[in-house]
Amino acid sequence: MKEMDRILLRFSEENVEEPITSQVILELGIPMRIVTATINSLGGDILVEVPKVHLKKIVQAFKAKGVVVKFPKLIEVNYDKCIDCGACYALCPVNAISFKEDHSIDFDEAICIGSPCGLCVDACPARAITLVEQHRNNQK
Ligand code: SF4
Ligand code: SF4
Repeated sequence: MKEMDRILLRFSEENVEEPITSQVILELGIPMRIVTATINSLGGDILVEVPKVHLKKIVQAFKAKGVVVKFPKLIEVNYDKCIDCGACYALCPVNAISFKEDHSIDFDEAICIGSPCGLCVDACPARAITLVEQHRNNQK
């Protein structure tokens, strides 16, 4: 499987009506996975997953079109600390947290939106969840 990175695209009131994401995909010929989108006529955020190998040119292409690009942190779960209390479960806006058959908690990092959210991090009484920087070396 390709190594992917996540970037948060922040659109302003001035550029939110323009089809910038489609333009970048077409211009570069690189597919991107939209994880979440919170957009209205005043602007908003789109969280996308892009191939790590193409990160630099994708970031440059969005920046050239006036989009602010941020690098969200991702969650890291220490299952040894987790006490399966379920406090995080109901808070997750994207259903990334579930219970396994043995009633232990499970996180799906492919669905989690990371630092734009972070609700479970604050809710965890065992401090089992942390937000960590993505490992990158070519985003500049
Ligand atoms: S950070 Fe947000 S999206 Fe991710 S698992 Fe926690 S509550 Fe769900
Ligand atoms: S809130 Fe923390 S301790 Fe409770 S189930 Fe979630 S990760 Fe585990």
